[in-house]
Amino acid sequence: MQPTDIFIIGGGPAGLAAAIAARRKGFDVTLADGARPPIDKACGEGLMPDGLAVLRSLGVALDAADAQPFGGIRFVGCGVSVESAFPNGYALGVRRTVLHSRMVEAAAAAGVRMLWGTPVSMADQTIRARWIVGADGFHSRVRRWAGLAAKPPVDQRFGFRIHYRVAPWSDYMELHWGAGCQIYVTPIGAQEVCAALISRDRRLRLDEALAQFPQLAARLAGAPRATTERGAVTANRSLPRVYRGNVALIGDASGSVDAITGEGLCLSFHQAIALADSLASGDLARYQAAHRRLARRPTLMSRLMLTMDRRTWLRTPAFRAMAFEPRIFQGLLSFHLCAPNYS
Ligand SMILES: Cc1cc2nc3c(=O)[nH]c(=O)nc-3n(C[C@H](O)[C@H](O)[C@H](O)COP(=O)(O)OP(=O)(O)OC[C@H]3O[C@@H](n4cnc5c(N)ncnc54)[C@H](O)[C@@H]3O)c2cc1C
Repeated sequence: MQPTDIFIIGGGPAGLAAAIAARRKGFDVTLADGARPPIDKACGEGLMPDGLAVLRSLGVALDAADAQPFGGIRFVGCGVSVESAFPNGYALGVRRTVLHSRMVEAAAAAGVRMLWGTPVSMADQTIRARWIVGADGFHSRVRRWAGLAAKPPVDQRFGFRIHYRVAPWSDYMELHWGAGCQIYVTPIGAQEVCAALISRDRRLRLDEALAQFPQLAARLAGAPRATTERGAVTANRSLPRVYRGNVALIGDASGSVDAITGEGLCLSFHQAIALADSLASGDLARYQAAHRRLARRPTLMSRLMLTMDRRTWLRTPAFRAMAFEPRIFQGLLSFHLCAPNYS
């Protein structure tokens, strides 16, 4: 294999964002992924306003035909509905395969060398690279190879996603709260929504869970499925370190926040900017510090939401208080989406 400045293992959203950001710093970048584009994955498919801004700055263009804008978040549960518009623009619902295609195009335009259908293993040929980036997702092997693996997360949850052919009934992303599970619905096209179920029960599927949400079930009743159900694991996980020697981790490989935050993608885009800056300075300790700062707010928010998930006695009064005083929810959303601090 041709020598390269940076070899990235994993060409999902985090690996591609890291590749583009590093190319923009003038590095020669090679990326390898075992799958072939466009790569799909179970996801709520919501891109929050700040994540969109980073994507744009990386030259990833999503046009009106690719995605569906939405203007805020609505929580539905405990007999009430609370909502707030985003304080900082709009978000986009976009199919993972579409997002992946647009990111691959931007990476190609930036001059990233991409090797698809190329799973990387320890026994493979030697790679001559100044830096190695592990962007190989939640079950990262690079994390293990680099000796950066921490204990498995204690609070793993299971997510399942289905696309339904139905016109979105709202221009907000809806998060429906039930007993031990949530379903969130993201408008992703003029005639399509993405519904994602998250729970601690690996056997629970959307059809069965919908029985808890009659209003939502009625909206989806009769709507044809545009895709088959796809699942993935999600959890809050933070690692003591995200680099060792010349190996750095990014995206879900470097730790994650529960899917309920809708922040995993945005977080990895911000990490990509911070990683490229650190690589340019030759000091990965700077990346470690920025990574920790970037994770702080989404981790706090996911803990708060998981506490509400586990404790109905807390969730009910909290939802009622937010319904009574909408500024509480607006404040929480503003905090959740405030611009991250890199330095
Ligand atoms: C149910 C659910 C809903 C979610 N909803 C949202 C949401 O609405 N908004 C949001 O921002 N985030 C959401 N997330 C989180 C988001 O999906 C992840 O944070 C994001 O996919 C992380 O991207 P990644 O590139 O780190 O990992 P991945 O997307 O998992 O990509 C890893 C890549 O590495 C490749 N790979 C793995 N091993 C190797 C190897 N040995 N060699 C070569 N390639 C390898 C894989 O093929 C894959 O392409 C959700 C997650 C779940 C589970």
